[in-house]
Amino acid sequence: MTKPKIVILGAGYGGIITSKRLEKLLKDGEADVTLINKHDYHYITTQLHKIGVGTAADRQFAISIPDLVDSNKTRFIKSSVSTVDIQNQLVHLDGGDTIEYDYLVTALGFEVETFGIPGIKENALAIRSFRSSKAIYHHITKQLNLYKEDQDPSRLTFVVAGGGFTGIEMLGELAEGLPNLCRQHNIPFEKVKIIAVEAAQSVIPFFPKQSIKYATETLEKFNVELMTSKKILECTPEKLLLESDLEIPARTIIWSCGVKANSIVEKFGLPLEKGKIPVDSYLRVKNITNVFSVGDCSLFMKDEKSYLPPTAQVALQQAPVCAQNIVSTLRGNELKVFEYHHKGTVASIGNFAAVGLVGRFRLSGLFGAFMKQVIEARYLFNLGGPALILKQHFRIDRDPVKITAKQ
Ligand code: FAD
Ligand code: NAD
Repeated sequence: MTKPKIVILGAGYGGIITSKRLEKLLKDGEADVTLINKHDYHYITTQLHKIGVGTAADRQFAISIPDLVDSNKTRFIKSSVSTVDIQNQLVHLDGGDTIEYDYLVTALGFEVETFGIPGIKENALAIRSFRSSKAIYHHITKQLNLYKEDQDPSRLTFVVAGGGFTGIEMLGELAEGLPNLCRQHNIPFEKVKIIAVEAAQSVIPFFPKQSIKYATETLEKFNVELMTSKKILECTPEKLLLESDLEIPARTIIWSCGVKANSIVEKFGLPLEKGKIPVDSYLRVKNITNVFSVGDCSLFMKDEKSYLPPTAQVALQQAPVCAQNIVSTLRGNELKVFEYHHKGTVASIGNFAAVGLVGRFRLSGLFGAFMKQVIEARYLFNLGGPALILKQHFRIDRDPVKITAKQ
């Protein structure tokens, strides 16, 4: 009898944890599991701002997928998914190969939302993937080198567009990392400007007032210029144009004004809501019982009106339930309803400050920064046990992962 084929698309938080959980749940020979990802490394998206400023080694946040999965239980294919044929149960890969499935998991993550603002796609830099973040680092160092040739101050102006969590994490990292980069390139750091542009009245506008105050004061202490209540209207290679005829001459615009689902899902012929794949309470695509979806590319309704946000926390809670429900489907058992439990939110502002909310408790300062480290370490622990934490932080036994930078 042929074994059922389970295919997982994407090895971000949702995909890799689904595959790891299937390794545990499936009996020997019960099913064939294939994990497909466009790179052969899994990256820690929640730390991409550090890659963007070069404040962490690549290998700390990019982990070889073949090292993470059990090759006896999971077949890993490094390839880009080009589309899915739901009728014929086939995944098409770039280069023409096709992979058959009986059960499919889409975990293809997010891409940045540009809201169609002119010039953003072409001229702004995105914190979207490991490669796009690496491209930010190369762009920054290029501007520092070019400044030495033409002394153009716009090369030393670094703008972060959007003051949500991604924005403040990037601002904190720039404030801490740029002095060092300037030293390395013989540039006086006093000439550097770091600017935050936010359309709302403050950074992290959706957070409690005291946290907003703390984040604002921390960024100001870092000499970040905060331009709030300023909507971005256009971006050119040399400047950013804002409401009220304001302009910021700058050659580095880091775009963090929000995210949407990976637009590749539009090609799958699946139902879409808000550009995402809507799933039922068992994480199955609505009305398709053999296709599951987790993480940022899916839409899970919390209640009739609101849906879960695109966070790693959601993807990480969905993945084990998705794996369990696939196994239950195979065995003809009852499926588990997915219930989300919000554990809190902590965002770093550099290495020594953070803002957060855990239940009713507000976190800030060094304690917040420590808690952020604990959350990150906990993820590595779940992924690969204590050995992975040691490997990632103390670089035991690790060859560098080969990664090229690309927007
Ligand atoms: P992803 O992690 O985006 O993974 C998608 C995977 O699919 C990737 O491996 C990608 O290479 C692969 N892929 C994409 N397209 C293809 C293709 N065509 N073919 C093959 N493979 C493909 N959330 C939190 O909860 N806490 C945080 O502290 C936090 N910090 C963040 C900090 C930053 C700077 C950013 C940008 C986001 C942060 N988030 C945080 C949000 C969180 O990172 C995302 O919600 C999370 O990554 C979603 O996981 P996912 O598995 O759905 O997708
Ligand atoms: P976001 O949507 O949370 O914030 C985007 C910000 O950009 C908003 O404050 C918005 O007002 C602003 N903005 C939008 N359009 C603008 C414009 N034209 N001009 C100026 N400002 C504009 O997006 P994000 O920060 O990228 O976060 C994406 C997801 O990732 C969220 O779900 C977030 O919670 C999650 N995330 C979590 C963490 C964490 O928990 N530490 C860190 C980063 C991201």
